[in-house]
Amino acid sequence: MFCKSLTKYARRATNVVNIGNIPLGGDNPIRIQSMINVATTDIDAAAAQCKKIVNAGADYVRATTQGVSEANAMKLIKLKLEEQNANIPLIADVHFNRDAAKIAAQNVEKVRINPGNFINKQTVGNKIFNTDEYNAELQYLRSEFVLLIDICKQHKTALRIGVNHGSLSERIMNRYGDTPEGMVESAMEFLRICKDENFNDVVVSMKSSNTRVMVYAYRLLVEKMTGEKMNFPLHIGVTETGDGFDARIKSAVGAGALLADGLGDTIRVSLTEAPENEIPVAKIIVNHFKERTNHKVIPDIDAKKYCPYTYNQRKTKASGIFGGKNQIATVADLSHINPVYDKDFEGLGFIKQGRIWKKTSKSPDAVYTGSSLFDSETEGITILSDENENLVRCNISCFNSDLFGWLKKNPQNILMLESDNTNAVAELRACFLMLENANVKNPVIIHRRYDDTDIESLQIKAACDFGALLIDGFGDAICLQNPETADTNPVQICFSILQAARVRFSSAEFIACPSCGRTLFDIQTTLSEIKNQTSHLKHLKIAVMGCIVNGTGEMADADYGYVGAGAGKISLYKNKILVKRNVLQHNAVNELVALIKENGDWVD
Ligand code: SF4
Repeated sequence: MFCKSLTKYARRATNVVNIGNIPLGGDNPIRIQSMINVATTDIDAAAAQCKKIVNAGADYVRATTQGVSEANAMKLIKLKLEEQNANIPLIADVHFNRDAAKIAAQNVEKVRINPGNFINKQTVGNKIFNTDEYNAELQYLRSEFVLLIDICKQHKTALRIGVNHGSLSERIMNRYGDTPEGMVESAMEFLRICKDENFNDVVVSMKSSNTRVMVYAYRLLVEKMTGEKMNFPLHIGVTETGDGFDARIKSAVGAGALLADGLGDTIRVSLTEAPENEIPVAKIIVNHFKERTNHKVIPDIDAKKYCPYTYNQRKTKASGIFGGKNQIATVADLSHINPVYDKDFEGLGFIKQGRIWKKTSKSPDAVYTGSSLFDSETEGITILSDENENLVRCNISCFNSDLFGWLKKNPQNILMLESDNTNAVAELRACFLMLENANVKNPVIIHRRYDDTDIESLQIKAACDFGALLIDGFGDAICLQNPETADTNPVQICFSILQAARVRFSSAEFIACPSCGRTLFDIQTTLSEIKNQTSHLKHLKIAVMGCIVNGTGEMADADYGYVGAGAGKISLYKNKILVKRNVLQHNAVNELVALIKENGDWVD
C-alpha cells in the first residue's frame, strides 16, 4: 500500500535532503517553491524575481537552465543575491542538456533533470526497443548519470528526478505506454542508480496536468520505492493548470489527494500568472493538512475493494438524478438561509438574499433546503429537504448493519454523508469502503460544510477534500455549504472541482504552462483571450504552451495546441500533430479558432 494506514494520518517517513540551508523531507515542514519566468540570463531581473518569490513565502526558487549559458548565469544570479544579503537556495531546471546539468550542479543547491530527456540522442526515433537495445540504453544512461552524481556529491548538490507525464522517453513509452506505470519506471531506473551509488540527496516527482494520472503515479511510486527500501522525499504538484480559480482548484485536487495520505515534502503550484501568486495558494493547501495528526479515531477498515491506482467509480443504483448512469451531480445547500421564492422569475425561479440564480449549464442539479419552501414549480431542479423521506443524512457514527440492511431494502434512498473529523477525507473514504464491503448500492451525496470568510481558501480546502474522494471514484454528488460567503456561488466551485477530478466536464479544459525564460510571448494575456473565445467548448482540451522545446511534449493529450515557436511566431497543433507552422502571433488566436472550426469541433 502507498501509505501506512488509510485511517490514521501520518506523513510518510522520508530522508532529509539538504538544499542549501533549508532541508526538506523527514520532519521538516512541507517546503514551498516556485520558478522565475524571466530569462535566466537576465541576471538583474532573475535576482529581483527570486527575491519577490521568497518574500511571498517560498523556500526555494527554480530557473530554467536549458543550456550552458543559463547554467553559468545561475552562478551570477547567486552572486547577485549574495551581494544583496539574500541567501536563497536555487534550483536549476535542466531538460535536455547534460553539460548544462553538470555545470549547474557546481553553481546551485539543486538540479532537476527529466529522465524522459536524459537519453542517448542516437536512439531517438527508434520505434521498437528489443531487450538488448533497451538494456544498452539503460547502461548508457547509467554511465552518463553517474558523472552527474559524482559532481553533485562533490558539491553537496541535491538532485530532483522530475518525471513528466508528457515527456517520457521513447524507450519507456515503447514498453509501458503513456501510463502511471511508465512514469514510475522512468523514475525508478534513476533512483536505483542513486541507491547503488549511495547518493541520497535526491527528491522525486511525477507530474502531470491530469490529476488522476498524477495521483495514481505518485501512489504507485511510493509503493514501488517502499518495496525497494527507498525513502526519497516527494516534490508534488499538478503541471500546466492555467490561471484563475479553476487552476487553483485543479492544483488543490491533485496535491490535496496526496497530502491527505501524508505524501509530499515540497510543493509547487503551477499557475500561468506572476510566480509569486503561486505561494499563497501553496500555503493554503499545505496548511489545510497541518493539524491532522491527532484526529478523531477512525475504525480500521477492510480495504480489499479499494482501488488506489486506477479510476473505478463506485457502482450505485440510480435514484432520480443521483447514482447509476447519471453524471455526478452538484447540490446547492441553502439550508442555512431563508430563501424568498419568486414564481415569476424566469429560469431557476428563486431569489435569495438579493442574488438571483439563473438557470444555466452551471446551475445546481439539486437544491438542499431545510424547509419545503422550494417546490416542484422550481423547474428542472431536484429539491431535497429534511422532510424528504428518501434523503438520509448521516455520518460514520450511524453506520451499522441495521442501517445497511435498511438501505439495501430501500435502494431509492439517498445518503447525504458528512464528517466533522479533522481527517474528513479518511473518515468519508472509510464510510464508502464500509458501504462497498456491505454491498450497499444507494447513491451518496458527499456533504461538506466550511466556515470560511475567504473565497480562495474555501475553493482550495473544498477542492482538497472533495477531490481526493472523487479521484478514488467515490460520490454520486457533491454538496458544498459555506454560510460565511453568502455572495459566492458554491455550485461554481463544485463544477470546477468535478472538472478538475475529471468526473464531469462543464467547460473546455485548458492546459497552460506557467511560462519561463523560454517563453517569447505574453502567455497570460493570450490564455485569457483563448479562454474568452473557447471556454464553452466543453468537449475539448486546449493547450497553451510557452515554447516548442518542451511545450509539444508536455501538452499531453490536448485536442488543440497553441505553442510558442519563436519571437512573434506560434505553431498550432491538432492532436499533437503540427498543422500550422509559424503563424504570426497577432493573428494566432483567430487561426486557432479557424482550425477548430475546420475540424468540425466548434459549437456556438
Ligand atoms: S513549456 Fe512553458 S514552462 Fe515549460 S519550458 Fe516551455 S515555456 Fe518553459
